[in-house]
Amino acid sequence: MSMNVDTSSTASIEAELLKFETEERKRLGLDDNVIKQHWYDPVPGGFTKDQREHTTLLVSGLTMAQDLFVQSALRGLGYKVQHLDCPDNSALRYGKEFGNRGQCNPTYFTVGNLVKHLSDMRDAGMPTKDVVNNYIFLTAGACGPCRFGTYVTEYRKALRDSGFDGFRVMLFQQQGGLKQATGDEVGLDMGAPFFLALLKSLLTGDILNALGYRIRPYELEKGSTDAALERCKKIISSALEESRSIWLAMLRVRLEMSKIKVDRTIPKPKVGIIGEFWAMTTEGDGNYKLQRFLESEGAEVDVQLVTAWLLYNIWEVRHDTKDRMTLREDDAGKKGLQGMDAWKRLLMLFGAEVAVRSVFQTFANLMGLHGYVLPDMEQVANVSHKYYDNDLRGGEGHMEVGKLILNILHSKVNMTLSVKPFGCMPSSGVSDGVQSYITEKFPGGIFCAIETSGDGAVNVQSRVQMMLFKAKQSAIRESEQALQKHGMSLDEAKSILGKVPFVGHSLFKPGHVHGSTAADMIELAAALKNPLKAIKNKLTASKEHKKVVEKVAPASSVKPEAPAVELKSRESLRILA
Ligand code: SF4
Repeated sequence: MSMNVDTSSTASIEAELLKFETEERKRLGLDDNVIKQHWYDPVPGGFTKDQREHTTLLVSGLTMAQDLFVQSALRGLGYKVQHLDCPDNSALRYGKEFGNRGQCNPTYFTVGNLVKHLSDMRDAGMPTKDVVNNYIFLTAGACGPCRFGTYVTEYRKALRDSGFDGFRVMLFQQQGGLKQATGDEVGLDMGAPFFLALLKSLLTGDILNALGYRIRPYELEKGSTDAALERCKKIISSALEESRSIWLAMLRVRLEMSKIKVDRTIPKPKVGIIGEFWAMTTEGDGNYKLQRFLESEGAEVDVQLVTAWLLYNIWEVRHDTKDRMTLREDDAGKKGLQGMDAWKRLLMLFGAEVAVRSVFQTFANLMGLHGYVLPDMEQVANVSHKYYDNDLRGGEGHMEVGKLILNILHSKVNMTLSVKPFGCMPSSGVSDGVQSYITEKFPGGIFCAIETSGDGAVNVQSRVQMMLFKAKQSAIRESEQALQKHGMSLDEAKSILGKVPFVGHSLFKPGHVHGSTAADMIELAAALKNPLKAIKNKLTASKEHKKVVEKVAPASSVKPEAPAVELKSRESLRILA
């Protein structure tokens, strides 16, 4: 402010402020007389059919098994494909060096992983122009609302700054099929075989992972599950790559997995991992190898499958379609969604959900994953809406909240662990804010939220260990209480189970009653000892359980009530007024 302003005069101050504003607007190009030039990110060239011969698609972003199967399935369709390694801490360093400041942790890991891979090729002697011209990165993307929507811009920025200007990135849109974010021309044939190949890779990968997490904690011979899993990966990937029968491959997987010897009567706490999608799915430094760490500490891990994410996406589109059907003015059409038959869309979504669930269950039963229940997305939405609005998007949305509530209500696990990446906008609000409220409202559960930043692994692991101690006690208590309830000793339970050959099989899954598998095995022993009493107990327990769930989320509610958070803020506004 210039010194000749009369600070006692409002008019003089206003005049000085106006002068300053005019100068600043001019300097920043906001002057109305200046033609506005918006920032523009140039789009590198597309991918055409004639480039297929010399172009390799790089894929990454899911679990190691799924990345491998996607590679094989697309190779089976005639593409040159290579999957990247699981992102590690050196990928994080590349991401931090070439990425923008203030990104979320998964952005740094995934962007850095690509830059690292390309840099390694360049360091090995490949000319930069060959890297740019002969490789394309294929990954998942979305319109946001969190940083997921800006991933492609981040990739371009980091690629430019690391010397790979013009490198092409293709996005697999969560809700819009596949499109080239880098141009209109599409070099991939996105017909039914392409999507079928992707679906097969995702589902078989999910099922194989779930089998591994279910069996490994109880293996009698250390390392036998991992060895079997490696053989299974080879079986599935070569079937996909050589376009041989996937059905036969799945049966061979079943055979391999059934060779593992297990003892499921050892009480182990079951830990459900929830949280941000990438951070809970990755199996490397991005979450401090959390799944393996938990197993090494004596836990059984329950991971969220990628199939659940597909179901969540279907739910989102269905929910939004139903909402928009009631809009008239805003959506211009008589019933909203102008130019589109909303009922037809809902029917298609219903068909998509039925197809995903049926194919999953068929594959799962063939491969030996029996009794796996995919989440009911309507139930997840109903139980969580009161605490986190179903219309809030980004990250896992309300799903993370719903899963914690259901884990507690249904005694699905002994402990729920939420993975929150450093710098994640949606996950921070949920893990630090809403979930604290949930644990207050549903005090029966053991909940632990951890932040993944790439460093401070020891701090995170010791925090997990502390909570795991409680979960271990809970698992032991469950088994003891089950034995007490049925008036049995552990030896008696073991001897009953020992007489029935199939219950000791690696692919066997006892019916769900408690959080831990060992307690479920005791329930099974009791049921074998006294079947009639077991049926009666089950009926009573299921009636009581239904009552509890109905209280939390009435099945009859067409539209759940407004979120508590919103009410709270209205109340505080009233107090302020
Ligand atoms: S959910 Fe969080 S961690 Fe994931 S992309 Fe969005 S901001 Fe990043």
